[in-house]
Amino acid sequence: MIEIIQIPLLSDNYSYVIIDKNTKITGCIDPSVAKDIVEVLKNKGIDLDFVLNTHHHQDHVGGNQELKEIYNCKIIGSYSDQNRIPGIDIKLKEDEEFNIGESIFKIIDTPGHTIGHICFYFEDQNLLFCGDTIFSLGCGRLFEGSYEQMTESILKIRSLPDCTKIYCGHEYTESNAKFAEFLDSRDDLLKNKISNIKKDRLKSKPTVPTTLKEEKMLNPFMKFDNQEYLDSIKLKNISNVENFKTIRMMKDNF
Ligand code: ZN
Ligand code: FE
Repeated sequence: MIEIIQIPLLSDNYSYVIIDKNTKITGCIDPSVAKDIVEVLKNKGIDLDFVLNTHHHQDHVGGNQELKEIYNCKIIGSYSDQNRIPGIDIKLKEDEEFNIGESIFKIIDTPGHTIGHICFYFEDQNLLFCGDTIFSLGCGRLFEGSYEQMTESILKIRSLPDCTKIYCGHEYTESNAKFAEFLDSRDDLLKNKISNIKKDRLKSKPTVPTTLKEEKMLNPFMKFDNQEYLDSIKLKNISNVENFKTIRMMKDNF
């Protein structure tokens, strides 16, 4: 089992220190900067064994080199994006497994936000670290990948068990909620979720992690093939990709 320490960094990033409870082998997912991570590790009295990067953006890899210098840790990233992950040592491909102590994760390729984006899936612990693929009530912007790729990536995530906990790369929930509400202001479950989000954010509490179950019900980017939802937001059902593209473009211009 792993212990997860969620670390808010920069204006709205989340990095995660993950500690395998039995072995104390430790990883850090998407360190935007090194400083706060070092603080957390110091307080825990542990060293860092691995850095895990979901994608190459600076707000996810910015701390790589410094952490490597301090801890001599190994940096894990996507095989296909190896040229853009600073300091990469371990290059993993889709479905490849790797261990943090006794905790095993698997790579899920999720191109879209970037071409080489990957997620880390701890299947037997029902945990997904998904970087900037899916956010609570939102999804990552398409900087590099195609709408086809992002639609496929979301379908892959959607096929995981409902109880999967989703640890994403940013606290964007409140602004995502505004768009979700704009699309469908009559959904009581969404209204309820939004009022909880507002309460949490007033107290500066994170709204992440979320669960796949909730996202499947409330996230507009997970409902592009849901006829009832498409009817309620008055979107003609053309195809998964076209529907997703329309919703994504509306959000880009929102
Ligand atoms: Zn990004
Ligand atoms: Fe990001």
